[in-house]
Amino acid sequence: MSPTDPYAGGQAHNAGTADRDALTAFSSFSLANLFDTLPEAVVVADRERRVVYINAAAETLFGYRLEDLRGRKTDVFYADQADFLNMGKQRYNTTASPGFSAYRVLYQCSDGSRFLGQTSAGGLSGAQGEIQGYLALIRPARSAEQSVDTLQRLHAITADANRDHSERMAAVLELGARHFGLDLAILSSIQGDVYRVEHCHDPSGGLSPGTTFDLGGTYCVHALKAEGPVGFHHTGESEIRTHPCYRDFGLEAYIGSPIQVNGTLYGTLNFSSVQACEPFSRDDLVFMQLLADTVGYEIHRNTMQNQLGMLARTDELTGLANRRAVMESLRWQMSHSLRSGLPLTVMSLDLDHFKSINDTWGHAAGDDVLRGFSSLLAAVTREVDLRGRFGGEEFIVVLPDTNADGGCVVGERLRRRLGETPMAVSKKESLTVTVSAGLASLQPGDTVESILNRVDRALYQAKQNGRDRLCVSEE
Ligand code: GH3
Ligand code: MG
Ligand code: MG
Repeated sequence: MSPTDPYAGGQAHNAGTADRDALTAFSSFSLANLFDTLPEAVVVADRERRVVYINAAAETLFGYRLEDLRGRKTDVFYADQADFLNMGKQRYNTTASPGFSAYRVLYQCSDGSRFLGQTSAGGLSGAQGEIQGYLALIRPARSAEQSVDTLQRLHAITADANRDHSERMAAVLELGARHFGLDLAILSSIQGDVYRVEHCHDPSGGLSPGTTFDLGGTYCVHALKAEGPVGFHHTGESEIRTHPCYRDFGLEAYIGSPIQVNGTLYGTLNFSSVQACEPFSRDDLVFMQLLADTVGYEIHRNTMQNQLGMLARTDELTGLANRRAVMESLRWQMSHSLRSGLPLTVMSLDLDHFKSINDTWGHAAGDDVLRGFSSLLAAVTREVDLRGRFGGEEFIVVLPDTNADGGCVVGERLRRRLGETPMAVSKKESLTVTVSAGLASLQPGDTVESILNRVDRALYQAKQNGRDRLCVSEE
C-alpha cells in the first residue's frame, strides 16, 4: 500500500497514561486465551516480521494453521507483495514511530481468495521502548463502516464537476473493485445477445472498451435473469461452475447487477476476480444495486447533456450545424489543417431572390425550400464535410482535405443538382431555385475571420456578376 493510498492512514493510538501495572496485576491473565476468544484475527510477528502466533480467528480467516506458518514471513498474508514491502517501510520496522494505527489492505488466504482487511496494528515494545515485534488485529473490511466510506467516495466522484463522464465511470469502477476486493470491473451495454465492454478497470490491461462477448458467455446473464444483483464468491463450488465464463476465464468471484437507464435495460455493472473471495452478504448485494443505480443515473445524465449539447449546436429548421457549431468546428479544422499542411476550403452559399419566394408563396413555403436545399447539400458533400446554416438563406460548407478546384467541383455539382430539382412551394406548384456561392481556401496565417471575409467577398462577387454562379476568392 502506497502512502497516497486513499485507504491508508487512520490515527495512531499512542499508549495512554493509564496505570501500566494494572494489567500485570492480573497474574493469571493470559493473552493467548484472550486472543482465542476474539472475533478479530490476531497476528503476532517478531522484529523480522516472522509469524510468532496467530489466533483461532486468524486460522479460520486465512485458512492456515499456526504450525504451518510459524517462522514464515508475514508476506504470506498479502495479496500484493508491494503492499508487504511498503508496510515494512512505513510501519513494520524498528525505527517506525510507536503506537497502533488503522489501515486497510488486500489480504490473501491459503486458497488464493482475497479480501480487504481492516487492520489495527503496531509495534510491541519492550521495557525500554525498543520494538520487539508487531501485532495486527484484522477483520474483513466489507462492513457497514466501509460501505459508508465507499458511499462518501461515490458521492464525491459523481459530484465532481471537473471529471467528464468517462472519468467518472472509470473512478466508479475502480472504487467498486476496491470495495469488493475484486480485480476486474466492467460496465457493459447489452443489445440482443451482444455484451459490449463500455468502460473497464482491469489492472492486468487485458481488457479494453469496445470488446464484445456473447452475452450467454458472461455471468451477467444470471444478473439479468434475477433482474437484480447476484453474487458468486466461489464459482468453482457453486451451481454455476459449468458456466462458460468459468470454463473460459476461470473467474471465481463475481458480483454484478443490471443497469437500468430511464426504465429500460442498458447493460450491467460487474466486478470479478480469478480468486475466490469471502461470501457476499445481503448488504453487498444492496450495495451492488446502489452502485448500478448510480451508474444508470450517470448514463442518463450524460445522454441528456449530450442531447442538450446537440440542440445547442443544431439549426432547428434544417437539422444542419448552426452558426456556433460551424464556427467551433471551423476553428478546430483550420488549426488541424495549418498543422498538417492539408488543404481546406470554405464555401458560403446564398439562395438567390429568396425574399420573393417568401413574398409570393409564404414563409412556410420558404421554409420548405430551405429544408429541400439542405437535403441537397447533404447529397452532394462527403460525410466528413461540415454543412451548416449560418442564418436566413445563407449556408456554409467546410471541405477538409480539399483545395479550391475540389471546392468548385462540389459547388458546381450542387448548382447542377439544384437546377434539376424543382422545389414544391404549394400542393401543385414547384419552382427551380438558384444559388450563388463564394469560396476560398486556407492560407498560412489565416484566422477564422480572415478566411470568412474572403469567402464573403467572393460571394458578393457572384451576386454582382449575375447570381446563379460560383466565385473563387482571388485574394
Ligand atoms: P439575393 O439574391 O441578393 O440573396 O436576394 P435575397 O432575396 O435572397 O436576399 P435578402 O437578404 O434580401 O432576403 C433574404 C430573405 O430570407 C429575407 C428573409 O425574410 C428570408 N429568411 C430569412 N430567414 C428565413 C427563414 O428561416 N425562413 C424563411 N422562410 N425565410 C427566411
Ligand atoms: Mg442573404
Ligand atoms: Mg439570398
